[in-house]
Amino acid sequence: MQGAAIGYAALAAPQGGGAVPEGRGHGRDTLRKNVGRMKLATGNGRIRKVVIAGGGTAGWVAACALTHQFRDMLDITLVESEQVGTVGVGESTIPTIRTFHKLLQIDEREFLSSVAGSFKLAISFENWTRPGARYIHPFGTTGVNTWSVDFHQFWLESRRRGIKSELGDYCLETAAALKDRFALFNTGQNTQQWSMRWTKAASMERRDVSYAYHFDAGLYAAFMRVKCEGRGLKRIEGKIAQVRQDPENGFVQALVLEDGQVIEGDLFLDCTGARALLSEQALKTGFEDWNHWLPSNRAVALQTEADGPPVPYTRAIAHEAGWHWKISLQHRIGCGIVFSDAHMSDDEATAKLLAENPAKRLREPWIIPFRTGRRRKAWNKNVIALGLASSFIEPLESTSIHLTLSAVTRLVQFFPFEGISEAAAERYNEVSRMELEHVRNFVVLHYHLNQRDEPLWKQCREMELPPGLGERIQVFRETGYAWQGEDELFRLDSWTHCMLGQGVVPQNHHPLTRALSDADLKTLLDGVRKPIDAAVAAMPSQQDFIDSYCRAPDSAWEKMYACARQHEQVTGKVAGVGGDLKQ
Ligand SMILES: Cc1cc2nc3c(=O)[nH]c(=O)nc-3n(C[C@H](O)[C@H](O)[C@H](O)COP(=O)(O)OP(=O)(O)OC[C@H]3O[C@@H](n4cnc5c(N)ncnc54)[C@H](O)[C@@H]3O)c2cc1C
Repeated sequence: MQGAAIGYAALAAPQGGGAVPEGRGHGRDTLRKNVGRMKLATGNGRIRKVVIAGGGTAGWVAACALTHQFRDMLDITLVESEQVGTVGVGESTIPTIRTFHKLLQIDEREFLSSVAGSFKLAISFENWTRPGARYIHPFGTTGVNTWSVDFHQFWLESRRRGIKSELGDYCLETAAALKDRFALFNTGQNTQQWSMRWTKAASMERRDVSYAYHFDAGLYAAFMRVKCEGRGLKRIEGKIAQVRQDPENGFVQALVLEDGQVIEGDLFLDCTGARALLSEQALKTGFEDWNHWLPSNRAVALQTEADGPPVPYTRAIAHEAGWHWKISLQHRIGCGIVFSDAHMSDDEATAKLLAENPAKRLREPWIIPFRTGRRRKAWNKNVIALGLASSFIEPLESTSIHLTLSAVTRLVQFFPFEGISEAAAERYNEVSRMELEHVRNFVVLHYHLNQRDEPLWKQCREMELPPGLGERIQVFRETGYAWQGEDELFRLDSWTHCMLGQGVVPQNHHPLTRALSDADLKTLLDGVRKPIDAAVAAMPSQQDFIDSYCRAPDSAWEKMYACARQHEQVTGKVAGVGGDLKQ
Protein backbone atom coordinates (compact mmCIF):
# COMPACT_ATOMS: atom_id res chain seq x y z
CA MET A 1 0.00 0.00 0.00
CA GLN A 2 0.94 3.60 0.04
CA GLY A 3 2.25 3.58 3.57
CA ALA A 4 5.89 3.40 2.68
CA ALA A 5 5.56 6.42 0.47
CA ILE A 6 3.53 8.53 2.83
CA GLY A 7 5.65 8.28 5.88
CA TYR A 8 3.42 6.28 8.16
CA ALA A 9 2.44 2.67 7.76
CA ALA A 10 -0.59 2.13 5.62
CA LEU A 11 -4.06 2.27 7.08
CA ALA A 12 -3.97 -0.69 9.37
CA ALA A 13 -5.57 -3.57 7.58
CA PRO A 14 -6.53 -6.79 9.29
CA GLN A 15 -4.95 -9.96 8.04
CA GLY A 16 -8.19 -11.44 6.83
CA GLY A 17 -11.60 -12.05 8.31
CA GLY A 18 -11.65 -14.60 11.05
CA ALA A 19 -7.92 -15.23 11.05
CA VAL A 20 -6.66 -15.67 14.57
CA PRO A 21 -3.20 -14.56 15.69
CA GLU A 22 -0.92 -17.30 16.94
CA GLY A 23 0.99 -16.85 20.16
CA ARG A 24 -1.71 -14.99 22.09
CA GLY A 25 -3.58 -17.98 23.39
CA HIS A 26 -5.69 -18.38 20.25
CA GLY A 27 -5.03 -21.54 18.32
CA ARG A 28 -6.93 -23.46 15.69
CA ASP A 29 -9.12 -25.14 18.33
CA THR A 30 -10.31 -21.82 19.66
CA LEU A 31 -11.11 -20.70 16.15
CA ARG A 32 -13.15 -23.84 15.47
CA LYS A 33 -14.99 -23.41 18.76
CA ASN A 34 -15.74 -19.78 18.01
CA VAL A 35 -17.00 -20.49 14.55
CA GLY A 36 -19.13 -23.26 16.05
CA ARG A 37 -20.88 -20.78 18.32
CA MET A 38 -21.39 -18.20 15.63
CA LYS A 39 -24.26 -16.06 16.82
CA LEU A 40 -26.80 -14.54 14.53
CA ALA A 41 -27.97 -11.04 15.20
CA THR A 42 -31.57 -11.05 14.14
CA GLY A 43 -34.32 -13.38 12.92
CA ASN A 44 -32.59 -14.80 9.88
CA GLY A 45 -29.23 -13.45 11.07
CA ARG A 46 -28.52 -11.46 7.96
CA ILE A 47 -27.42 -7.87 8.36
CA ARG A 48 -29.07 -5.41 6.05
CA LYS A 49 -30.25 -2.47 8.15
CA VAL A 50 -27.41 -0.42 9.57
CA VAL A 51 -28.09 2.43 11.97
CA ILE A 52 -25.37 4.98 12.61
CA ALA A 53 -25.92 6.82 15.89
CA GLY A 54 -24.15 10.19 15.75
CA GLY A 55 -23.08 12.54 13.00
CA GLY A 56 -19.67 13.85 13.99
CA THR A 57 -16.55 12.99 12.03
CA ALA A 58 -16.86 9.31 12.98
CA GLY A 59 -20.51 8.99 11.99
CA TRP A 60 -20.19 10.70 8.65
CA VAL A 61 -16.93 8.99 7.70
CA ALA A 62 -18.51 5.61 8.45
CA ALA A 63 -21.63 6.56 6.49
CA CYS A 64 -19.54 7.63 3.52
CA ALA A 65 -17.43 4.49 3.48
CA LEU A 66 -20.38 2.11 3.84
CA THR A 67 -22.51 3.82 1.20
CA HIS A 68 -19.55 3.96 -1.16
CA GLN A 69 -18.49 0.36 -0.66
CA PHE A 70 -21.83 -1.37 -0.35
CA ARG A 71 -24.23 0.91 -2.24
CA ASP A 72 -27.55 -0.95 -2.58
CA MET A 73 -26.54 -3.88 -0.42
CA LEU A 74 -27.43 -2.07 2.79
CA ASP A 75 -30.15 0.18 4.10
CA ILE A 76 -28.29 2.83 6.11
CA THR A 77 -29.78 5.43 8.45
CA LEU A 78 -27.84 8.06 10.39
CA VAL A 79 -29.30 9.80 13.44
CA GLU A 80 -27.77 12.98 14.78
CA SER A 81 -28.86 15.70 17.10
CA GLU A 82 -28.42 19.37 16.48
CA GLN A 83 -29.23 19.89 20.12
CA VAL A 84 -26.26 17.82 21.22
CA GLY A 85 -23.75 18.97 18.57
CA THR A 86 -20.29 17.56 17.90
CA VAL A 87 -17.02 17.87 19.79
CA GLY A 88 -15.97 20.59 17.32
CA VAL A 89 -12.24 19.75 17.24
CA GLY A 90 -10.15 17.21 15.32
CA GLU A 91 -8.51 19.23 12.60
CA SER A 92 -5.04 17.79 12.17
CA THR A 93 -4.48 14.50 10.39
CA ILE A 94 -1.78 12.10 9.20
CA PRO A 95 -1.07 10.95 5.64
CA THR A 96 -3.17 7.80 5.83
CA ILE A 97 -6.23 9.99 5.34
CA ARG A 98 -5.20 10.39 1.71
CA THR A 99 -5.27 6.63 1.20
CA PHE A 100 -8.75 6.55 2.69
CA HIS A 101 -9.94 9.39 0.50
CA LYS A 102 -8.59 7.63 -2.57
CA LEU A 103 -10.64 4.57 -1.66
CA LEU A 104 -13.69 6.83 -1.57
CA GLN A 105 -12.65 8.52 -4.83
CA ILE A 106 -12.60 11.92 -3.23
CA ASP A 107 -11.15 14.64 -5.41
CA GLU A 108 -8.46 16.42 -3.41
CA ARG A 109 -8.97 19.91 -4.79
CA GLU A 110 -12.71 19.82 -4.28
CA PHE A 111 -12.18 18.43 -0.82
CA LEU A 112 -9.65 21.02 0.31
CA SER A 113 -11.60 23.96 -1.00
CA SER A 114 -14.75 22.62 0.72
CA VAL A 115 -13.12 22.21 4.13
CA ALA A 116 -10.84 25.29 3.97
CA GLY A 117 -7.98 22.83 4.29
CA SER A 118 -4.25 23.37 4.35
CA PHE A 119 -1.31 20.99 4.04
CA LYS A 120 0.57 19.38 6.87
CA LEU A 121 4.12 18.07 6.52
CA ALA A 122 5.05 17.59 10.15
CA ILE A 123 4.44 18.38 13.79
CA SER A 124 6.63 20.97 15.45
CA PHE A 125 7.29 19.95 19.06
CA GLU A 126 8.28 22.94 21.12
CA ASN A 127 9.38 23.08 24.77
CA TRP A 128 9.02 19.33 25.20
CA THR A 129 12.42 18.33 26.50
CA ARG A 130 12.77 21.71 28.20
CA PRO A 131 11.55 25.27 27.60
CA GLY A 132 13.11 26.69 24.43
CA ALA A 133 13.84 23.31 22.78
CA ARG A 134 12.27 22.40 19.44
CA TYR A 135 12.23 19.46 17.11
CA ILE A 136 10.25 18.43 14.06
CA HIS A 137 8.48 15.11 13.63
CA PRO A 138 8.08 14.94 9.86
CA PHE A 139 6.09 12.68 7.58
CA GLY A 140 8.08 10.95 4.87
CA THR A 141 11.41 9.28 4.69
CA THR A 142 14.64 10.61 6.09
CA GLY A 143 17.77 9.90 4.09
CA VAL A 144 18.02 6.95 1.77
CA ASN A 145 17.49 3.28 2.33
CA THR A 146 20.57 1.16 2.58
CA TRP A 147 20.24 -2.56 2.88
CA SER A 148 22.17 -2.99 6.10
CA VAL A 149 22.27 0.14 8.19
CA ASP A 150 19.54 2.71 8.71
CA PHE A 151 20.32 6.18 7.47
CA HIS A 152 20.24 7.85 10.87
CA GLN A 153 23.15 5.63 11.93
CA PHE A 154 25.31 7.26 9.25
CA TRP A 155 24.12 10.61 10.49
CA LEU A 156 25.13 9.67 14.04
CA GLU A 157 28.55 8.71 12.70
CA SER A 158 28.84 12.04 10.90
CA ARG A 159 28.15 13.82 14.19
CA ARG A 160 30.87 11.76 15.83
CA ARG A 161 33.24 13.01 13.14
CA GLY A 162 32.27 16.59 13.87
CA ILE A 163 30.05 17.27 10.85
CA LYS A 164 27.34 19.64 12.01
CA SER A 165 23.83 19.04 10.73
CA GLU A 166 20.37 18.09 11.94
CA LEU A 167 18.76 14.79 11.01
CA GLY A 168 15.87 16.82 9.58
CA ASP A 169 18.24 18.33 6.99
CA TYR A 170 17.97 14.98 5.22
CA CYS A 171 14.19 14.94 5.12
CA LEU A 172 12.34 16.82 2.40
CA GLU A 173 9.24 17.33 4.55
CA THR A 174 11.19 18.86 7.45
CA ALA A 175 13.17 21.13 5.16
CA ALA A 176 10.02 22.32 3.37
CA ALA A 177 8.07 22.74 6.63
CA LEU A 178 10.77 24.91 8.17
CA LYS A 179 10.59 27.23 5.17
CA ASP A 180 6.75 27.21 5.04
CA ARG A 181 6.82 25.77 1.54
CA PHE A 182 4.71 23.20 -0.19
CA ALA A 183 4.17 21.75 -3.68
CA LEU A 184 2.94 18.61 -5.36
CA PHE A 185 4.03 16.90 -8.52
CA ASN A 186 1.86 16.71 -11.59
CA THR A 187 -1.21 18.41 -10.30
CA GLY A 188 -1.81 20.40 -13.45
CA GLN A 189 -2.47 24.09 -13.98
CA ASN A 190 -0.18 26.53 -12.23
CA THR A 191 1.44 23.92 -10.09
CA GLN A 192 2.82 22.19 -13.18
CA GLN A 193 5.44 24.87 -13.45
CA TRP A 194 6.68 24.21 -9.92
CA SER A 195 6.53 20.49 -10.49
CA MET A 196 8.84 20.74 -13.44
CA ARG A 197 11.28 22.97 -11.63
CA TRP A 198 11.22 20.67 -8.69
CA THR A 199 11.60 17.49 -10.72
CA LYS A 200 14.60 18.98 -12.42
CA ALA A 201 16.10 20.30 -9.22
CA ALA A 202 15.50 17.19 -7.23
CA SER A 203 17.17 14.20 -8.72
CA MET A 204 15.71 12.34 -5.79
CA GLU A 205 14.59 8.78 -5.42
CA ARG A 206 11.18 9.93 -4.32
CA ARG A 207 8.69 11.43 -6.68
CA ASP A 208 6.33 13.08 -4.27
CA VAL A 209 6.03 14.70 -0.92
CA SER A 210 4.38 12.98 2.03
CA TYR A 211 1.66 15.10 3.58
CA ALA A 212 -1.64 15.23 5.39
CA TYR A 213 -4.27 17.89 5.93
CA HIS A 214 -5.48 20.46 8.41
CA PHE A 215 -9.16 21.15 7.99
CA ASP A 216 -12.25 22.49 9.68
CA ALA A 217 -13.88 19.63 11.60
CA GLY A 218 -17.42 20.91 11.02
CA LEU A 219 -16.85 21.31 7.31
CA TYR A 220 -15.27 17.87 7.10
CA ALA A 221 -18.39 16.20 8.52
CA ALA A 222 -20.50 18.35 6.18
CA PHE A 223 -18.38 17.35 3.18
CA MET A 224 -18.71 13.67 4.01
CA ARG A 225 -22.43 14.12 4.48
CA VAL A 226 -22.89 15.67 1.06
CA LYS A 227 -20.88 12.80 -0.45
CA CYS A 228 -23.10 10.12 0.95
CA GLU A 229 -26.57 11.63 1.16
CA GLY A 230 -26.86 11.39 -2.59
CA ARG A 231 -26.17 7.66 -2.34
CA GLY A 232 -29.35 6.70 -0.60
CA LEU A 233 -28.36 7.28 3.00
CA LYS A 234 -31.23 8.40 5.20
CA ARG A 235 -30.51 11.09 7.81
CA ILE A 236 -32.76 11.65 10.79
CA GLU A 237 -32.51 14.69 13.02
CA GLY A 238 -33.42 13.85 16.59
CA LYS A 239 -32.17 13.11 20.04
CA ILE A 240 -31.81 9.50 21.07
CA ALA A 241 -33.72 9.02 24.31
CA GLN A 242 -33.54 5.26 24.69
CA VAL A 243 -31.63 2.28 23.35
CA ARG A 244 -33.99 -0.69 23.07
CA GLN A 245 -32.37 -4.09 23.64
CA ASP A 246 -33.44 -7.69 23.22
CA PRO A 247 -34.26 -8.76 26.80
CA GLU A 248 -32.77 -12.20 26.19
CA ASN A 249 -29.42 -11.59 24.56
CA GLY A 250 -28.94 -7.86 25.06
CA PHE A 251 -28.53 -7.15 21.34
CA VAL A 252 -29.66 -3.67 20.38
CA GLN A 253 -32.93 -3.70 18.47
CA ALA A 254 -33.78 -0.03 18.02
CA LEU A 255 -33.10 3.57 18.97
CA VAL A 256 -36.04 5.48 20.36
CA LEU A 257 -35.90 9.21 19.78
CA GLU A 258 -37.29 11.92 22.03
CA ASP A 259 -40.12 12.54 19.58
CA GLY A 260 -41.13 8.89 19.76
CA GLN A 261 -39.65 7.72 16.44
CA VAL A 262 -38.31 4.18 16.61
CA ILE A 263 -35.35 3.34 14.38
CA GLU A 264 -34.81 -0.37 14.09
CA GLY A 265 -31.66 -1.99 12.80
CA ASP A 266 -29.61 -5.18 12.54
CA LEU A 267 -26.24 -3.56 13.18
CA PHE A 268 -25.58 -0.32 15.08
CA LEU A 269 -22.54 1.91 14.83
CA ASP A 270 -22.06 3.88 18.01
CA CYS A 271 -20.66 7.23 16.89
CA THR A 272 -22.18 9.22 19.73
CA GLY A 273 -18.84 10.56 20.91
CA ALA A 274 -17.54 10.22 24.44
CA ARG A 275 -21.09 9.53 25.69
CA ALA A 276 -21.00 6.12 23.99
CA LEU A 277 -24.77 5.84 24.30
CA LEU A 278 -24.97 2.33 22.90
CA SER A 279 -21.72 0.61 23.73
CA GLU A 280 -21.38 1.95 27.26
CA GLN A 281 -24.65 3.36 28.52
CA ALA A 282 -26.68 0.46 27.09
CA LEU A 283 -24.27 -2.47 26.77
CA LYS A 284 -21.98 -1.56 29.71
CA THR A 285 -18.95 -2.68 27.75
CA GLY A 286 -16.42 -1.21 30.17
CA PHE A 287 -13.51 1.14 29.66
CA GLU A 288 -9.79 0.62 30.17
CA ASP A 289 -8.42 3.85 31.57
CA TRP A 290 -4.92 5.01 30.57
CA ASN A 291 -4.85 8.19 32.62
CA HIS A 292 -1.87 6.92 34.62
CA TRP A 293 0.18 7.01 31.41
CA LEU A 294 -1.38 10.03 29.78
CA PRO A 295 -2.29 12.46 32.57
CA SER A 296 -4.04 15.17 30.51
CA ASN A 297 -7.80 14.93 30.84
CA ARG A 298 -9.24 18.25 29.67
CA ALA A 299 -8.87 20.72 26.87
CA VAL A 300 -10.01 24.23 26.15
CA ALA A 301 -10.42 25.02 22.46
CA LEU A 302 -10.64 28.31 20.57
CA GLN A 303 -10.87 29.57 17.01
CA THR A 304 -9.29 32.85 15.97
CA GLU A 305 -8.65 34.72 12.79
CA ALA A 306 -5.42 33.82 11.01
CA ASP A 307 -2.41 35.82 12.16
CA GLY A 308 -0.37 35.19 8.99
CA PRO A 309 -0.08 32.71 6.12
CA PRO A 310 -0.76 29.12 7.20
CA VAL A 311 2.27 27.10 8.25
CA PRO A 312 2.45 23.55 6.85
CA TYR A 313 2.77 21.86 10.23
CA THR A 314 0.84 21.47 13.46
CA ARG A 315 2.41 23.14 16.46
CA ALA A 316 2.47 21.24 19.77
CA ILE A 317 3.92 23.45 22.47
CA ALA A 318 4.45 21.97 25.91
CA HIS A 319 3.56 24.05 28.96
CA GLU A 320 3.73 23.51 32.70
CA ALA A 321 0.66 21.26 32.87
CA GLY A 322 0.19 19.84 29.37
CA TRP A 323 0.54 21.34 25.91
CA HIS A 324 -0.91 23.84 23.47
CA TRP A 325 -1.94 23.05 19.88
CA LYS A 326 -2.07 25.46 16.97
CA ILE A 327 -3.43 24.46 13.60
CA SER A 328 -3.43 26.86 10.65
CA LEU A 329 -6.29 26.47 8.23
CA GLN A 330 -6.76 28.58 5.15
CA HIS A 331 -8.67 31.29 6.91
CA ARG A 332 -8.34 30.80 10.63
CA ILE A 333 -6.43 29.16 13.44
CA GLY A 334 -7.73 26.32 15.56
CA CYS A 335 -5.96 26.24 18.89
CA GLY A 336 -6.35 24.81 22.33
CA ILE A 337 -4.73 23.88 25.57
CA VAL A 338 -4.60 20.27 26.67
CA PHE A 339 -4.06 19.96 30.40
CA SER A 340 -4.35 17.84 33.50
CA ASP A 341 -6.92 19.11 35.98
CA ALA A 342 -4.66 17.96 38.78
CA HIS A 343 -2.21 20.66 37.72
CA MET A 344 -4.28 23.44 36.09
CA SER A 345 -7.83 24.73 36.45
CA ASP A 346 -10.24 25.48 33.59
CA ASP A 347 -9.95 29.19 34.30
CA GLU A 348 -6.16 29.11 34.25
CA ALA A 349 -6.11 27.13 31.00
CA THR A 350 -8.62 29.48 29.36
CA ALA A 351 -6.73 32.59 30.47
CA LYS A 352 -3.49 31.11 29.15
CA LEU A 353 -5.08 30.20 25.83
CA LEU A 354 -6.53 33.68 25.34
CA ALA A 355 -3.30 35.39 26.35
CA GLU A 356 -1.25 33.31 23.92
CA ASN A 357 -3.70 33.72 21.05
CA PRO A 358 -4.54 37.41 20.88
CA ALA A 359 -5.93 37.38 17.31
CA LYS A 360 -9.62 38.21 16.92
CA ARG A 361 -11.80 35.43 18.31
CA LEU A 362 -14.17 33.72 15.94
CA ARG A 363 -15.72 31.56 18.61
CA GLU A 364 -15.59 31.73 22.37
CA PRO A 365 -13.41 29.13 24.11
CA TRP A 366 -15.09 25.90 25.10
CA ILE A 367 -14.03 23.24 27.58
CA ILE A 368 -13.75 19.60 26.52
CA PRO A 369 -13.32 17.02 29.26
CA PHE A 370 -11.93 13.71 28.01
CA ARG A 371 -10.87 10.34 29.24
CA THR A 372 -7.90 8.55 27.74
CA GLY A 373 -8.31 4.84 27.17
CA ARG A 374 -10.31 2.34 25.22
CA ARG A 375 -13.66 0.62 25.29
CA ARG A 376 -12.92 -2.98 26.31
CA LYS A 377 -14.62 -4.26 23.18
CA ALA A 378 -14.88 -1.99 20.17
CA TRP A 379 -17.32 -4.53 18.75
CA ASN A 380 -19.80 -5.82 21.35
CA LYS A 381 -22.83 -7.88 20.27
CA ASN A 382 -24.32 -5.98 17.31
CA VAL A 383 -22.78 -2.63 18.23
CA ILE A 384 -19.50 -1.33 16.87
CA ALA A 385 -18.14 1.77 18.56
CA LEU A 386 -16.25 4.22 16.36
CA GLY A 387 -14.50 7.50 17.05
CA LEU A 388 -14.63 8.92 20.55
CA ALA A 389 -17.20 6.30 21.53
CA SER A 390 -14.59 3.59 21.11
CA SER A 391 -11.39 5.12 22.44
CA PHE A 392 -9.44 8.27 22.91
CA ILE A 393 -5.75 8.96 22.84
CA GLU A 394 -5.08 12.62 23.22
CA PRO A 395 -4.39 14.48 19.98
CA LEU A 396 -0.64 14.97 20.34
CA GLU A 397 0.14 12.90 17.24
CA SER A 398 -3.18 13.66 15.48
CA THR A 399 -4.13 10.00 15.40
CA SER A 400 -7.82 9.92 16.37
CA ILE A 401 -9.26 10.47 12.92
CA HIS A 402 -6.77 7.97 11.53
CA LEU A 403 -7.92 5.40 14.09
CA THR A 404 -11.51 5.99 13.02
CA LEU A 405 -10.63 5.59 9.35
CA SER A 406 -8.69 2.47 10.13
CA ALA A 407 -11.59 1.03 12.14
CA VAL A 408 -14.04 1.82 9.35
CA THR A 409 -11.73 0.11 6.84
CA ARG A 410 -11.63 -2.89 9.14
CA LEU A 411 -15.41 -2.87 9.44
CA VAL A 412 -15.74 -2.91 5.66
CA GLN A 413 -13.42 -5.91 5.56
CA PHE A 414 -15.21 -7.75 8.36
CA PHE A 415 -18.72 -6.66 7.45
CA PRO A 416 -21.05 -9.35 8.83
CA PHE A 417 -23.54 -9.68 5.97
CA GLU A 418 -24.51 -13.21 6.93
CA GLY A 419 -24.67 -12.63 10.68
CA ILE A 420 -22.34 -11.75 13.48
CA SER A 421 -19.48 -14.13 14.03
CA GLU A 422 -18.02 -13.97 17.53
CA ALA A 423 -14.68 -15.09 16.15
CA ALA A 424 -14.60 -12.25 13.63
CA ALA A 425 -15.68 -9.76 16.28
CA GLU A 426 -12.91 -11.02 18.55
CA ARG A 427 -10.36 -10.62 15.79
CA TYR A 428 -11.66 -7.13 15.05
CA ASN A 429 -11.30 -6.25 18.73
CA GLU A 430 -7.84 -7.74 18.97
CA VAL A 431 -6.57 -5.76 15.99
CA SER A 432 -8.18 -2.60 17.39
CA ARG A 433 -6.53 -3.13 20.75
CA MET A 434 -3.06 -3.69 19.30
CA GLU A 435 -3.38 -0.69 17.04
CA LEU A 436 -4.38 1.56 19.91
CA GLU A 437 -1.71 0.33 22.28
CA HIS A 438 0.96 1.04 19.72
CA VAL A 439 -0.27 4.60 19.20
CA ARG A 440 -0.65 5.08 22.94
CA ASN A 441 2.95 4.04 23.55
CA PHE A 442 4.22 6.47 20.96
CA VAL A 443 2.33 9.32 22.60
CA VAL A 444 3.48 8.28 26.08
CA LEU A 445 7.07 8.51 24.84
CA HIS A 446 6.68 12.28 24.40
CA TYR A 447 5.43 12.76 27.92
CA HIS A 448 7.97 10.47 29.50
CA LEU A 449 11.18 11.69 27.85
CA ASN A 450 11.38 15.18 29.27
CA GLN A 451 13.76 17.23 31.36
CA ARG A 452 11.23 19.77 32.62
CA ASP A 453 10.91 20.81 36.27
CA GLU A 454 7.16 21.06 36.82
CA PRO A 455 5.30 18.40 38.89
CA LEU A 456 3.36 16.95 35.92
CA TRP A 457 6.53 16.43 33.93
CA LYS A 458 8.44 15.01 36.86
CA GLN A 459 5.58 12.55 37.41
CA CYS A 460 5.73 11.50 33.73
CA ARG A 461 9.48 11.07 33.82
CA GLU A 462 9.20 8.77 36.80
CA MET A 463 6.12 6.78 35.79
CA GLU A 464 6.15 3.08 35.07
CA LEU A 465 5.96 2.70 31.28
CA PRO A 466 3.50 0.52 29.37
CA PRO A 467 4.89 -2.86 28.25
CA GLY A 468 7.43 -2.65 25.43
CA LEU A 469 8.06 1.07 25.49
CA GLY A 470 10.90 1.06 27.99
CA GLU A 471 12.64 -1.62 25.94
CA ARG A 472 12.40 0.45 22.76
CA ILE A 473 13.90 3.47 24.44
CA GLN A 474 16.64 1.40 26.02
CA VAL A 475 17.62 -0.28 22.74
CA PHE A 476 17.79 3.09 21.02
CA ARG A 477 19.78 4.62 23.86
CA GLU A 478 22.32 1.81 23.85
CA THR A 479 22.62 1.08 20.11
CA GLY A 480 20.83 3.77 18.08
CA TYR A 481 18.58 1.03 16.70
CA ALA A 482 14.88 1.80 16.14
CA TRP A 483 12.22 -0.21 14.37
CA GLN A 484 8.66 -0.43 13.11
CA GLY A 485 6.89 -3.63 14.07
CA GLU A 486 4.48 -5.46 11.82
CA ASP A 487 1.15 -3.63 11.47
CA GLU A 488 2.47 -0.69 13.48
CA LEU A 489 1.55 2.81 12.41
CA PHE A 490 4.68 4.69 13.33
CA ARG A 491 7.69 4.05 11.21
CA LEU A 492 11.32 3.86 12.13
CA ASP A 493 11.78 7.49 11.08
CA SER A 494 9.06 8.58 13.49
CA TRP A 495 10.61 6.77 16.42
CA THR A 496 14.05 8.09 15.51
CA HIS A 497 13.07 11.74 15.15
CA CYS A 498 11.02 11.70 18.33
CA MET A 499 13.52 9.87 20.51
CA LEU A 500 16.36 12.12 19.35
CA GLY A 501 14.10 15.16 19.61
CA GLN A 502 13.10 14.23 23.14
CA GLY A 503 16.72 14.10 24.15
CA VAL A 504 17.77 10.45 23.91
CA VAL A 505 21.40 10.38 22.82
CA PRO A 506 22.47 6.94 21.56
CA GLN A 507 25.61 5.75 23.33
CA ASN A 508 26.66 3.74 20.27
CA HIS A 509 25.71 3.37 16.68
CA HIS A 510 26.27 0.76 14.02
CA PRO A 511 29.98 -0.10 13.62
CA LEU A 512 29.66 -0.52 9.85
CA THR A 513 29.24 3.24 9.53
CA ARG A 514 32.81 3.67 10.70
CA ALA A 515 34.06 1.79 7.66
CA LEU A 516 33.13 4.69 5.40
CA SER A 517 35.93 7.10 4.54
CA ASP A 518 35.29 10.79 5.27
CA ALA A 519 34.89 11.39 1.54
CA ASP A 520 32.37 8.58 1.10
CA LEU A 521 30.38 9.70 4.11
CA LYS A 522 30.27 13.23 2.74
CA THR A 523 29.18 11.93 -0.65
CA LEU A 524 26.38 9.95 0.98
CA LEU A 525 25.13 12.89 3.04
CA ASP A 526 25.48 15.47 0.26
CA GLY A 527 23.74 13.12 -2.13
CA VAL A 528 20.67 13.30 0.08
CA ARG A 529 20.81 16.88 1.22
CA LYS A 530 21.60 18.78 -1.96
CA PRO A 531 18.60 17.58 -3.95
CA ILE A 532 16.38 18.35 -0.95
CA ASP A 533 17.72 21.89 -0.70
CA ALA A 534 17.25 22.35 -4.44
CA ALA A 535 13.72 20.95 -4.32
CA VAL A 536 12.70 23.17 -1.42
CA ALA A 537 14.19 26.23 -3.13
CA ALA A 538 12.00 25.46 -6.14
CA MET A 539 8.81 25.12 -4.09
CA PRO A 540 6.32 27.94 -3.68
CA SER A 541 5.11 29.06 -0.28
CA GLN A 542 2.22 27.00 1.02
CA GLN A 543 0.01 30.09 0.69
CA ASP A 544 0.84 30.47 -3.02
CA PHE A 545 0.26 26.82 -3.61
CA ILE A 546 -3.13 26.88 -1.86
CA ASP A 547 -4.17 29.97 -3.79
CA SER A 548 -3.63 28.24 -7.10
CA TYR A 549 -4.67 24.73 -6.14
CA CYS A 550 -7.51 24.65 -3.65
CA ARG A 551 -8.48 28.10 -2.40
CA ALA A 552 -11.73 27.85 -0.41
CA PRO A 553 -14.50 30.21 -1.42
CA ASP A 554 -15.57 32.62 1.31
CA SER A 555 -18.84 30.74 1.44
CA ALA A 556 -17.07 27.71 2.94
CA TRP A 557 -16.42 29.34 6.25
CA GLU A 558 -19.43 31.60 6.14
CA LYS A 559 -21.48 28.44 5.95
CA MET A 560 -19.62 27.01 8.90
CA TYR A 561 -20.12 30.03 11.09
CA ALA A 562 -23.78 30.16 10.14
CA CYS A 563 -24.05 26.59 11.39
CA ALA A 564 -22.13 27.40 14.55
CA ARG A 565 -24.42 30.33 15.27
CA GLN A 566 -27.47 28.21 14.54
CA HIS A 567 -26.18 25.57 16.92
CA GLU A 568 -25.57 28.12 19.64
CA GLN A 569 -29.07 29.46 19.20
CA VAL A 570 -30.56 26.00 19.55
CA THR A 571 -28.49 24.74 22.43
CA GLY A 572 -27.39 27.96 24.09
CA LYS A 573 -23.83 26.68 24.25
CA VAL A 574 -20.73 26.58 22.10
CA ALA A 575 -19.95 22.94 21.52
CA GLY A 576 -19.06 22.13 17.98
CA VAL A 577 -21.01 22.56 14.84
CA GLY A 578 -23.29 19.60 14.09
CA GLY A 579 -26.72 20.72 13.10
CA ASP A 580 -28.79 20.83 10.02
CA LEU A 581 -26.56 21.90 7.16
CA LYS A 582 -28.70 23.41 4.48
CA GLN A 583 -26.72 23.03 1.29
C1 LIG B 1 -9.23 18.37 22.47
C2 LIG B 1 -9.29 17.44 21.31
C3 LIG B 1 -8.54 17.69 20.17
C4 LIG B 1 -8.57 16.79 19.11
N1 LIG B 1 -7.76 17.00 18.02
C5 LIG B 1 -7.67 16.05 17.07
C6 LIG B 1 -6.81 16.19 15.97
O1 LIG B 1 -6.13 17.19 15.82
N2 LIG B 1 -6.76 15.19 15.06
C7 LIG B 1 -7.52 14.07 15.18
O2 LIG B 1 -7.40 13.17 14.35
N3 LIG B 1 -8.41 13.95 16.17
C8 LIG B 1 -8.49 14.90 17.11
N4 LIG B 1 -9.39 14.76 18.13
C9 LIG B 1 -10.34 13.66 18.09
C10 LIG B 1 -11.47 14.04 17.14
O3 LIG B 1 -12.06 15.24 17.56
C11 LIG B 1 -12.49 12.95 17.06
O4 LIG B 1 -11.86 11.72 16.79
C12 LIG B 1 -13.49 13.20 15.97
O5 LIG B 1 -14.00 14.49 16.04
C13 LIG B 1 -14.61 12.21 16.00
O6 LIG B 1 -15.53 12.54 16.98
P1 LIG B 1 -16.87 11.69 17.05
O7 LIG B 1 -17.56 11.78 15.75
O8 LIG B 1 -16.53 10.36 17.58
O9 LIG B 1 -17.70 12.43 18.20
P2 LIG B 1 -18.53 13.81 18.21
O10 LIG B 1 -17.93 14.84 17.35
O11 LIG B 1 -18.72 14.13 19.66
O12 LIG B 1 -19.93 13.43 17.57
C14 LIG B 1 -20.92 12.76 18.31
C15 LIG B 1 -22.21 12.74 17.52
O13 LIG B 1 -23.17 12.01 18.25
C16 LIG B 1 -24.37 12.76 18.32
N5 LIG B 1 -25.07 12.44 19.54
C17 LIG B 1 -24.59 12.33 20.80
N6 LIG B 1 -25.58 12.07 21.66
C18 LIG B 1 -26.71 11.98 20.93
C19 LIG B 1 -28.07 11.73 21.23
N7 LIG B 1 -28.52 11.52 22.49
N8 LIG B 1 -28.95 11.71 20.22
C20 LIG B 1 -28.56 11.92 18.92
N9 LIG B 1 -27.29 12.17 18.59
C21 LIG B 1 -26.38 12.21 19.59
C22 LIG B 1 -23.90 14.21 18.28
O14 LIG B 1 -24.94 15.07 17.86
C23 LIG B 1 -22.80 14.12 17.27
O15 LIG B 1 -23.35 14.19 15.98
C24 LIG B 1 -9.39 15.66 19.18
C25 LIG B 1 -10.20 15.44 20.30
C26 LIG B 1 -10.16 16.31 21.36
C27 LIG B 1 -11.01 16.05 22.55
